Amino acid sequence: MTVRLWIPLPSPDESIASILWRAACFLEIDPNVLWGHIVSDVPGDPGTMDAPSSNALRRIANGIGMTPSRLAAHRIPVGETLLEPNARTAACPLCWQEDDVNGRPRTYRRAWAYACRTFCRQHRVPLVAPRRPGHLDLSANTHDYARLSGAEHETIVQMIDFEDRIAAVLDGAEQWPIEWAGSASGFKVALAQLVSENAATGGRPLVCNIYVSRALEPYIHGPKHYGSLRNSERWLAFLRERNPAVRRAALWLATVYVSPERATDHASGLPARLLQKIFSADQILD
Ligand SMILES: [Zn+2]
Repeated sequence: MTVRLWIPLPSPDESIASILWRAACFLEIDPNVLWGHIVSDVPGDPGTMDAPSSNALRRIANGIGMTPSRLAAHRIPVGETLLEPNARTAACPLCWQEDDVNGRPRTYRRAWAYACRTFCRQHRVPLVAPRRPGHLDLSANTHDYARLSGAEHETIVQMIDFEDRIAAVLDGAEQWPIEWAGSASGFKVALAQLVSENAATGGRPLVCNIYVSRALEPYIHGPKHYGSLRNSERWLAFLRERNPAVRRAALWLATVYVSPERATDHASGLPARLLQKIFSADQILD
């Protein structure tokens, strides 16, 4: 049974989960309820919103009024750094500002769905986590960001450059750079340990120790609530972190892993023995 989805056609880089979220908003129902309706009588495993089976994809395409092959182009390419589905919530304030100005619906781009990509590649500004899907105070965000000092902007530029390199390496597009210490698997262990509950510090994740200027704090900080964290060295702990500010902080601290000489710049607050424990990790993750 086709469920008609009364929404404008997808924007070029929009994810399928974003298309379904817009349709669910229009129908005033939960996106998961809509997904359940769409795939209720689809034969076989329907997959997930961003990776639907071919039967489910055809059903969604029929609902929107586009061909399945065109909709298939909106699938998110699977990769080592793809966030868990529930964690793909970050957005770029400037992309949404352009959506508003051009009278388009705000959409979630596929490029925002990766754990080591915490900046918008188009605007080179930090992605932020809206409190509610689709809701973001654009003027406050852009105003605060414009007030960063030259040195703070330089820190952001360095972060973007580092993220570009680490994302290319972890997704297999490039080799682990010869001038970096450690290995890709060790780097992933380090990131997972930074954002996980830590017995040695009473549950407070190590990433909470990061120190940055007050103006940069909204963009780079540890989790405000960490009661539900589990002690995990597995990569999944990092892929489940939905706040890009927390992932950004962990990535920034973990630059010490690849360049130990950066320790004094980036790791203020982290006891030396803990740093040693994290960054000596070099096991293969499954
Ligand atoms: Zn943007």
